[in-house]
Amino acid sequence: MTSISEQPRRDDWKTLLRARFPIAKSAGIECFKGWQPILARMLERLEAAVAQQPAVFRRGLKVKGIREKFGVLGVYLSKVPTPEVQALLDEAHAAAMVTCEVCGAPGRMADRHGWMSVKCDAHENWSPADRIADGPRQPA
Ligand SMILES: [Zn+2]
Repeated sequence: MTSISEQPRRDDWKTLLRARFPIAKSAGIECFKGWQPILARMLERLEAAVAQQPAVFRRGLKVKGIREKFGVLGVYLSKVPTPEVQALLDEAHAAAMVTCEVCGAPGRMADRHGWMSVKCDAHENWSPADRIADGPRQPA
Protein backbone atom coordinates (compact mmCIF):
# COMPACT_ATOMS: atom_id res chain seq x y z
CA MET A 1 0.00 0.00 0.00
CA THR A 2 1.23 3.46 -0.77
CA SER A 3 0.43 6.35 1.46
CA ILE A 4 -0.71 9.54 -0.13
CA SER A 5 -0.79 12.86 1.59
CA GLU A 6 -4.17 14.05 0.43
CA GLN A 7 -7.45 14.01 2.25
CA PRO A 8 -9.31 10.72 1.90
CA ARG A 9 -12.00 11.15 -0.68
CA ARG A 10 -15.52 10.10 0.15
CA ASP A 11 -15.55 7.56 -2.65
CA ASP A 12 -12.32 5.85 -1.59
CA TRP A 13 -14.26 2.75 -0.58
CA LYS A 14 -15.10 2.21 -4.24
CA THR A 15 -11.45 2.48 -5.25
CA LEU A 16 -10.51 -0.04 -2.56
CA LEU A 17 -13.25 -2.42 -3.69
CA ARG A 18 -12.05 -2.26 -7.30
CA ALA A 19 -8.46 -2.81 -6.20
CA ARG A 20 -9.40 -5.80 -4.07
CA PHE A 21 -11.51 -7.58 -6.68
CA PRO A 22 -9.94 -7.70 -10.16
CA ILE A 23 -13.26 -8.80 -11.69
CA ALA A 24 -14.64 -5.37 -10.80
CA LYS A 25 -11.55 -3.30 -11.49
CA SER A 26 -13.23 -1.21 -14.16
CA ALA A 27 -16.75 -1.35 -12.78
CA GLY A 28 -18.79 1.79 -12.40
CA ILE A 29 -20.10 1.87 -8.84
CA GLU A 30 -23.07 4.09 -8.13
CA CYS A 31 -24.44 3.46 -4.70
CA PHE A 32 -23.77 4.52 -1.12
CA LYS A 33 -21.32 3.03 1.32
CA GLY A 34 -23.89 1.15 3.41
CA TRP A 35 -23.95 -1.55 0.75
CA GLN A 36 -20.18 -1.97 0.72
CA PRO A 37 -20.20 -5.19 2.82
CA ILE A 38 -22.84 -6.71 0.54
CA LEU A 39 -20.75 -5.86 -2.51
CA ALA A 40 -17.53 -7.16 -0.98
CA ARG A 41 -19.18 -10.45 -0.07
CA MET A 42 -20.77 -10.75 -3.49
CA LEU A 43 -17.55 -10.01 -5.37
CA GLU A 44 -15.56 -12.41 -3.24
CA ARG A 45 -18.02 -15.21 -3.93
CA LEU A 46 -18.34 -14.18 -7.56
CA GLU A 47 -14.61 -14.48 -8.12
CA ALA A 48 -14.60 -17.89 -6.44
CA ALA A 49 -17.58 -19.07 -8.50
CA VAL A 50 -16.16 -17.76 -11.76
CA ALA A 51 -12.87 -19.56 -11.11
CA GLN A 52 -14.82 -22.83 -11.31
CA GLN A 53 -16.37 -21.99 -14.67
CA PRO A 54 -15.05 -23.11 -18.05
CA ALA A 55 -12.34 -20.87 -19.47
CA VAL A 56 -14.62 -19.87 -22.32
CA PHE A 57 -16.96 -18.30 -19.80
CA ARG A 58 -14.23 -16.69 -17.69
CA ARG A 59 -12.54 -15.02 -20.62
CA GLY A 60 -13.51 -11.38 -20.77
CA LEU A 61 -15.92 -11.71 -17.88
CA LYS A 62 -16.07 -8.67 -15.71
CA VAL A 63 -18.42 -6.61 -13.63
CA LYS A 64 -19.39 -3.63 -15.75
CA GLY A 65 -21.54 -1.78 -13.29
CA ILE A 66 -22.96 -1.81 -9.81
CA ARG A 67 -25.72 0.66 -9.19
CA GLU A 68 -28.65 1.61 -7.12
CA LYS A 69 -31.78 2.37 -9.10
CA PHE A 70 -35.16 3.05 -7.51
CA GLY A 71 -33.69 1.75 -4.25
CA VAL A 72 -32.70 -1.57 -5.79
CA LEU A 73 -29.18 -2.93 -6.23
CA GLY A 74 -28.36 -3.88 -9.80
CA VAL A 75 -25.18 -5.66 -10.88
CA TYR A 76 -24.26 -5.82 -14.55
CA LEU A 77 -21.84 -8.31 -16.01
CA SER A 78 -20.18 -8.34 -19.41
CA LYS A 79 -21.69 -11.77 -20.10
CA VAL A 80 -24.95 -13.54 -19.43
CA PRO A 81 -24.49 -15.11 -15.99
CA THR A 82 -24.59 -18.83 -15.41
CA PRO A 83 -27.34 -19.94 -12.99
CA GLU A 84 -24.75 -20.24 -10.23
CA VAL A 85 -23.45 -16.73 -10.83
CA GLN A 86 -26.98 -15.39 -11.13
CA ALA A 87 -27.78 -16.87 -7.71
CA LEU A 88 -24.97 -14.80 -6.17
CA LEU A 89 -26.25 -11.65 -7.80
CA ASP A 90 -29.78 -12.43 -6.62
CA GLU A 91 -28.57 -12.91 -3.07
CA ALA A 92 -26.83 -9.53 -3.04
CA HIS A 93 -29.94 -7.95 -4.55
CA ALA A 94 -32.09 -9.44 -1.78
CA ALA A 95 -29.65 -8.38 0.96
CA ALA A 96 -29.61 -4.80 -0.32
CA MET A 97 -33.43 -4.67 -0.16
CA VAL A 98 -33.24 -4.77 3.65
CA THR A 99 -29.95 -2.94 4.27
CA CYS A 100 -29.67 0.81 4.90
CA GLU A 101 -27.73 2.21 1.95
CA VAL A 102 -26.08 4.78 4.22
CA CYS A 103 -24.79 2.75 7.16
CA GLY A 104 -25.46 -0.94 6.48
CA ALA A 105 -27.87 -1.40 9.40
CA PRO A 106 -31.16 -3.21 8.83
CA GLY A 107 -33.38 -0.91 6.82
CA ARG A 108 -36.60 -0.84 4.90
CA MET A 109 -37.56 0.10 1.39
CA ALA A 110 -39.86 3.10 1.21
CA ASP A 111 -40.85 5.97 -1.00
CA ARG A 112 -39.19 9.05 0.48
CA HIS A 113 -40.17 12.29 -1.20
CA GLY A 114 -40.71 10.44 -4.44
CA TRP A 115 -37.47 8.47 -4.29
CA MET A 116 -37.44 4.79 -3.47
CA SER A 117 -34.61 3.85 -1.14
CA VAL A 118 -33.66 1.54 1.70
CA LYS A 119 -32.87 3.33 4.95
CA CYS A 120 -32.74 2.58 8.65
CA ASP A 121 -34.65 4.70 11.18
CA ALA A 122 -31.58 6.82 11.91
CA HIS A 123 -31.18 7.75 8.23
CA GLU A 124 -34.84 8.18 7.40
CA ASN A 125 -34.22 11.82 6.49
CA TRP A 126 -30.63 11.52 5.34
CA SER A 127 -29.66 13.09 2.04
CA PRO A 128 -26.46 12.67 0.03
CA ALA A 129 -25.43 16.22 0.91
CA ASP A 130 -25.23 15.19 4.59
CA ARG A 131 -22.45 12.77 3.89
CA ILE A 132 -19.78 15.44 3.68
CA ALA A 133 -20.33 16.71 7.21
CA ASP A 134 -21.65 13.51 8.74
CA GLY A 135 -20.42 10.56 6.79
CA PRO A 136 -21.57 6.98 6.84
CA ARG A 137 -20.96 5.27 10.15
CA GLN A 138 -20.81 1.70 11.22
CA PRO A 139 -23.88 0.68 13.18
CA ALA A 140 -23.31 0.94 16.94
ZN1 LIG B 1 -28.65 3.86 8.35
